[in-house]
Amino acid sequence: MGDTGINFRCIRCEYRPKDGEAEGLTQCPQCGTRATPLADSEDVTIEINWHELRILGIFAERWAQEIKDEEQGGSANSSQRTVAIICGRLQAQHPDRAPLTMSGEIASLRQMPGISNVEMTGGFDEDEEANDAT
Ligand SMILES: [Zn+2]
Repeated sequence: MGDTGINFRCIRCEYRPKDGEAEGLTQCPQCGTRATPLADSEDVTIEINWHELRILGIFAERWAQEIKDEEQGGSANSSQRTVAIICGRLQAQHPDRAPLTMSGEIASLRQMPGISNVEMTGGFDEDEEANDAT
């Protein structure tokens, strides 16, 4: 595959610009994020222990929550949403393993019999995520 200048995809929705559409883009035409897109040339396969990945996911989610009030541009540019999407893609590759985020851990606790009323305070708001359809 030759270098057409469009060999990247959106970090959030994985949208790929069509021929001629990539030049001058400042945000994703599909989801509106201004987050740096993913260049196909940067795709790698790595070896990592799931616990190491959980540490990274939990810390990333926590930091994104910490800086959410400082971010400009609302949901389209929120680090919380980006971290949730990235962790979701990683989790989908191993759905039977422990959740990669604390919000995922709490969500899994809610599914356990007798622990359905666990509430999360001060962390990632899953309801906010669910209500943000675009
Ligand atoms: Zn997008």
